[in-house]
Amino acid sequence: MSKIQALRGMSDLLPAQTPAWQYFESVVNQVLQSYGYQEIRFPVLEETDLFCRSIGEVTDIVEKEMYTFNDREKKKISLRPEGTASCVRACEQHGLLYNQTQRLWYAGPMFRHERPQKGRLRQFHQVGIEAFGFEGPDIDAEVIIITAKLWRKLGILDAVTLHINNLGSPQARAEFRAALVEFLNTHKDQLDEDSQRRIATNPLRVLDSKVEKTQQLLDNAPSLSDFIDSESREHFAVLQELLNAAGVDFVVNSRLVRGLDYYTGTVFEWITDKLGAQGTVCGGGRYDGLVEQLGGRSTPGIGCAMGIERLVLMLEELNCVPEHVYKSVDIYVVAPGDVSAQALALTENLRLTLPQLRIVNHCGGGNFKSQFKKADKSGATLALIVGESEVQNKQAGIKFLREKREQITVNWNDLATELNALLSY
Ligand code: ATP
Ligand code: MG
Repeated sequence: MSKIQALRGMSDLLPAQTPAWQYFESVVNQVLQSYGYQEIRFPVLEETDLFCRSIGEVTDIVEKEMYTFNDREKKKISLRPEGTASCVRACEQHGLLYNQTQRLWYAGPMFRHERPQKGRLRQFHQVGIEAFGFEGPDIDAEVIIITAKLWRKLGILDAVTLHINNLGSPQARAEFRAALVEFLNTHKDQLDEDSQRRIATNPLRVLDSKVEKTQQLLDNAPSLSDFIDSESREHFAVLQELLNAAGVDFVVNSRLVRGLDYYTGTVFEWITDKLGAQGTVCGGGRYDGLVEQLGGRSTPGIGCAMGIERLVLMLEELNCVPEHVYKSVDIYVVAPGDVSAQALALTENLRLTLPQLRIVNHCGGGNFKSQFKKADKSGATLALIVGESEVQNKQAGIKFLREKREQITVNWNDLATELNALLSY
C-alpha cells in the first residue's frame, strides 16, 4: 500500500527544528509581556463571511487563497488566512472593546492556498500584535518599536529594513485611487497582465507589483503622498519623530500599500534581502474602520503580523539560534545490572531538586559499553553511572562525555550540589 504523505505546502516540524521555534516563541513571549500585551487565542475555523467582509472580496487572499468548505450544516466556513479579522470578531463577541483599550497578541497557524516555495507555505505560522482603542501615532510607534525590539533580541535587526507609509484618510485614498486608475488606464498596454486586471479590482495593489517594467512606469504615476490629508500628514510626521527618538531606523516608501482592504493611515513592513523573493517578514498597519465594518462601534486599531517560518529561516541562516537551544539532554543515566529501581529513585529525586536539568534514564538494558554508546549519542554533557557497586556504597560515578577529564565519584547526598555546579551554564 502506498504511504500517505503530508499535504503539499504543509510541513512537519521535526525534533531537529522545534528548538529554534521554541527559542523564537520564548523571545516573542518575553518581549510582548514586557510591553504589557496579553495573549488571545481564537479558533482556526470561522464563518467565511468574516474574512470576505474584512480582508475584502477582491484581495488575493479572498479571491484565490482561502480554504473554504461547507460544513455538515451547509454553512460556509474557512480556515483562517490571517488573524486580525478573527481577533476583532472575538473581541467584539466578548465585549472587550467596549469603553476600553486592548493590547493583544496571538500566535498560530494560518492557511492560504498559494504556490509553495521557500518561505511560502499553505499552512504557515504567524505571530500577530493588535492594539485597539488608541487613535494617536504613539501606539503606532509602540507596535513598531516592539517589533524592532524583537529583531534586536533575536540578533537580526541589521538584516531587516523598516518601510513605512501613510495611506491617508479613506477620502484621500479614494481621490488618489481615482487619479491612479486614470493614469493606469492611459498606460494599460504597458502593464503586466496581473496589474491590468487589478485596475478594475484593486488598483492600489498595482503599486506593489513585483514586475520591473510596471515599477518603472509607476515612476511617473501620481503619488499617494500628494493626496494625503493634513491630519494624516501630521500623524505620519509624529510617528517618524517618535521612531527617530527611539532610535528605530526606517525608510518612507510611498508605494507601500499592503494587500488587505482594511488598512487606513499608517502601514509598515519589515523587509530582508536574506530570503530571496519572500522578503517580507512582518507587515502591518492601522485599520480604523475594521471594527465598525464587522458590526461593532467605531474603534481605532493597529496591528501587524510576522511570518514565523521566514523569521526562523533567517535565524538559522544568520546563525542566530544559540547553540544551547539545540541541546536536549544534560545527563544520561547509565545503570547496568540489576539496579534500575535504585537508579530511577535517585534520578526522580534529582529532578525534584534540580528541575531545570534534563535527565534521561537509559531504558532497554544492555552492558556498560552499549549504554555508554547511547549516552554519547544522546548529546548529554555527563553520564551518571549507577552500577551495583555504586548503589552498595550509596554513590554515583560522573563521567565527562564532552571533555577530557577524569571520572569522579560522588556520594548521593552531595550529588545534586555537585551536578548543579558542573552544569550551571
Ligand atoms: P507576501 O507578500 O509575502 O505574500 P502578504 O502580504 O501576503 O505577504 P501578510 O498577509 O501581510 O503577508 O502576512 C504577514 C506575514 O506573514 C508576511 O509578511 C509573511 O512573513 C508571512 N506570510 C504570509 N503568507 C505566507 C505564506 N504563504 N507562507 C509563509 N509566510 C507567510
Ligand atoms: Mg501573500
